[in-house]
Amino acid sequence: MGPLLAENLNGLTKLSVFASLVFPFTSKYNKMRPLKINFSPELWFMLKRLFLQLKNKIETMALAITAYGTKVLRKVCDEITKDYEGLATLIDSMWETMYETSGVGLAAPQVNKAIRLFVVDTEQVYEGMNDEDKEDLFEDEAPIKETFINAQIIGESEEVWADNEGCLSLPDISGEVERPWSIEIEYYDRDFNKHTKTFSGYNARVIQHEYDHTEGILYVDHLSGIAKRLIKGKLNKIAEGKISPRYRMRFAK
Ligand SMILES: [Zn+2]
Repeated sequence: MGPLLAENLNGLTKLSVFASLVFPFTSKYNKMRPLKINFSPELWFMLKRLFLQLKNKIETMALAITAYGTKVLRKVCDEITKDYEGLATLIDSMWETMYETSGVGLAAPQVNKAIRLFVVDTEQVYEGMNDEDKEDLFEDEAPIKETFINAQIIGESEEVWADNEGCLSLPDISGEVERPWSIEIEYYDRDFNKHTKTFSGYNARVIQHEYDHTEGILYVDHLSGIAKRLIKGKLNKIAEGKISPRYRMRFAK
């Protein structure tokens, strides 16, 4: 429907321009010209502008992801109060961005805000897992969908486990990271209700990864020396913006 309308309007515009050129001094066309020339292009521009505004609105809901190399990813983030300006919108946009980019978690520094805020949704991953993985990675714990504000890890298990991790700020690379199996964490939810909870397995891994972001730590910092050297070239490319990610990113350079 769009192109057809555009064609028709363009046709009308062309016709009226043609008419004004061929019959510039004909009183009949001089009278018609203002009507046609003013009407068609204006309507066309109005529709085009409306379309671009709508497109922009849809796109800006999902925020750009800060890439490896941006300073904000290395900041120890600040705590916030419930009066933090635009907090509800920011949290909504972070959820939107996380789903748009197919992430299981997203931390505020990844959308260029150095504050102690992250969101985690392990429900979708859980649904896609086979029974064996559910048993191994969740045991009897339910998957979570939660907003964490001003989180502080106050305890962790001695038991550790290694698993592959990736990060939206470091597209197309992954590495094996060893982390405590379970953690105890204090945090506020989006309504600023305080919680003290213990998480384990996959939930604990994602929480620790996002929590690290609010401490200025990236999962690659946990890799062994050899693993780090192997991805050094790729990391440099990301820092220099010489990659083509499938989502919008903000680069250091
Ligand atoms: Zn990450």
